[in-house]
Amino acid sequence: MSEVDVPESHPRYESLLTRHRIETGVEKGITSQQGLIAQGRGEAFDYLLGERTIESADRAERVGAAHLLLADHPVLSVNGNVAALVPGEVVELAAVTGADLEVNLFNRTEQRIEAIADHLREHGANEVKGLTADARIPGLDHERAKVDADGIYNADTVVVPLEDGDRAEALGEMGKTEIVIDLNPLSRSAQVAAVPIIDNVLRAVPNMTAHARSLQDTPADALQQIVDDFDPAQALGAAEEAIRSGELE
Ligand code: ATP
Repeated sequence: MSEVDVPESHPRYESLLTRHRIETGVEKGITSQQGLIAQGRGEAFDYLLGERTIESADRAERVGAAHLLLADHPVLSVNGNVAALVPGEVVELAAVTGADLEVNLFNRTEQRIEAIADHLREHGANEVKGLTADARIPGLDHERAKVDADGIYNADTVVVPLEDGDRAEALGEMGKTEIVIDLNPLSRSAQVAAVPIIDNVLRAVPNMTAHARSLQDTPADALQQIVDDFDPAQALGAAEEAIRSGELE
C-alpha cells in the first residue's frame, strides 16, 4: 500500500494517486480550486493518450533535458498543481540540471506562494524564487506579469508545466526557450513552445531527470544537435494523432 489506500497494481492507481495529491494540495493551501478543474481537463486527455508516455513525448523530454543542460540560466516554473503533484521530482530535476525553481501562479496570493515555497523546501529545495516579484513580463496585466528579476525574467530557458496560454506566449515573445508540459496538444501554451511535452507532469518530470542524468557528460555540440533535430510541430501532430486514433494499449 502507498499514500493512497490502493495497491500500486490497481489499474487506476496513478489516476487515484493524482487526485489524492491534488485534493491534499487544496487542503494545504498549495493548489487553487481552479487547479481542480485543470486537473480534470488533464485527466481526460491522459485517458485518451492511454495514460502512458508516448514515444514522441519521450523524445521531447530528452530534448527538454538537453536544452536545460545547455542553458546558461534555466528556471523551472512551479504552480499549485505542480507543487502538489511532483514536489520532490521538480527539486530533483532542478538539482540535476542546475536550474532555479520559481513559484509562478496564475491566481497569485502571497500566502499561497509562501505555502508552495515551504512545501518545496520540505522536499529538499534550497532556494525558491518567486517571492521577490521585482520584475514584470511585458504585455500582461499586473498580477499575472510578476516574476523575479534574477529568476524567470532573466532566464534563457524556462520549463512551464500547465501554463496559461497568454503567459506562455508572452514569455516566448521575450525570446526565452520554452519547454511546456501539457497534456493538451491543442492548448495555446503547447502550441507556442519550442519544446511541447504532451505528457502527464507526473511522468514527464522524472523522465526528464533520467534523460538529463544520461546526457550529463554529453559534449555541448552533441546536445545542440539533439536540440536542432527536434520539430515541435511533429511532436504536437503525433500526440494529436494518438489522441484522435484512440488506439489504447
Ligand atoms: P491555454 O490557455 O493554454 O489554452 P487552458 O485554458 O486550456 O490553457 P487550463 O484549463 O488552465 O488551461 O488547464 C491547464 C492545462 O493543463 C490543460 O491543458 C490540461 O490539459 C493541463 N494539465 C492538467 N493536469 C495536467 C497534468 N497532470 N500534466 C500535464 N498537463 C496537465
